[in-house]
Amino acid sequence: MKQKLHPSTLCVQAGYEPANGEPRQMPIIQSTTFKYTTSDEMGRLFDLEASGYFYTRLQNPTNDRVAARLAALEGGVAGMLTSSGQAANFFACFNICEAGDHMITTSAIYGGTYNLFGVTFPKMGIEVTFIDQNASDEEIEAAFRPNTKLLFGETLTNPGVRVLDVERLARIAHKHGVPLIVDNTFPTPVHLRPIEWGADIVTHSTTKYLDGHGTTVGGAIIDSGNFDWEAHADKFPGLTTPDESYHGLTYTKKFGKLAYITKATSQLMRDLGSIQSPQNAFYLNLGIQTLAVRMKHICESAQQIAEFLAAQPSVKWIQYPGLASDPDHALAQKYMPDGTCGVMALGLKGGRDAAIRFMDALRLVTIETHVADCYTCILHPASHTHRQLSDQQLHEAGIDPDLMRLSIGLEDPRDIIEDIKQALAAAGL
Ligand SMILES: *Cc1c(COP(=O)(O)O)cnc(C)c1O
Repeated sequence: MKQKLHPSTLCVQAGYEPANGEPRQMPIIQSTTFKYTTSDEMGRLFDLEASGYFYTRLQNPTNDRVAARLAALEGGVAGMLTSSGQAANFFACFNICEAGDHMITTSAIYGGTYNLFGVTFPKMGIEVTFIDQNASDEEIEAAFRPNTKLLFGETLTNPGVRVLDVERLARIAHKHGVPLIVDNTFPTPVHLRPIEWGADIVTHSTTKYLDGHGTTVGGAIIDSGNFDWEAHADKFPGLTTPDESYHGLTYTKKFGKLAYITKATSQLMRDLGSIQSPQNAFYLNLGIQTLAVRMKHICESAQQIAEFLAAQPSVKWIQYPGLASDPDHALAQKYMPDGTCGVMALGLKGGRDAAIRFMDALRLVTIETHVADCYTCILHPASHTHRQLSDQQLHEAGIDPDLMRLSIGLEDPRDIIEDIKQALAAAGL
């Protein structure tokens, strides 16, 4: 029987087993194309009749090994890498949802994803309904239509760090014959494996903790292989009826549990070309190898810092699911008993002005449009990423005008707490 490995072991070893004399570290196959001796062999690859590499826009061995490592971590059957998290969420949905279709998403999601679904998808003829992830089953179910193709959510939301009730949303999605797709960027598979709770497809912005060093933009899609497309064949004709661009091959019949990822690779990557470079996949691999140790340190530090902040009279409010007082604490304990992530959201007494004075006084904590890497960093959406919005529009987007997003990195938490103390004092708070 094959030994069941823990996440930290999978981080180091899954997806790549070198044979005798081969490189111990996963090599970068920095090659656009791959050589064949007969025309027939190459032709069979183009017909998806044989498996093998022929052009890196479709598949590359380095990318595939890193994707296999992520699939092992998430407990899925297959994965693919994309050039960014945006491309991952786009492909994950567009693979089964096209012009004339409808999808449902929770509204507390990353701003880029919000824009993709709210602005760009409608331009492509896809209708999108936004729901409150804490709405009742009945309210969520009322959003389903006959042409609904998927339900989407973020397992831990960016920037509010709210916990998605994955098991409940999976149950609702399945009742309506559609898959649940979740963006698992913030907890990472070290802290949450949504497939174990019923999610069907998992996406990542690997730019965040998975890379973890702020070096490479990237994304990933992992398929659980669990969703029964054939049981809802009329809803998913792209998977269950012949693809004329491959001589009438049907993905579910030919590839079984690998149907969804094979279609995403052989159609979407072929036509839309958002592949991750093998060099970036190599950096991503290095990041994943230390993911488990980094997440442990980051969560322990974030817990200390969140508790410190919660006790400051100048802190008006703080959201961090690791705090016992947080409304999502019970959900976090259910889904992420080993810790959530290093991101927290908070507001200071004195609002927007106080936030700006405080941030300008920080020395170790830097102002960055990023989260979830090795540096502790802070962002004020109302002044930065969302600065074009009025206070009213900010409220509608679920962002308080005084919200600051603080992302704890790998520094010693005692040094970060000292920095926060001096900045609060310097800001007169
Ligand atoms: C950053 C982020 C994205 C977008 O990823 P990019 O790699 O920047 O394209 C998507 N989802 C979440 C939760 C994110 O934090």
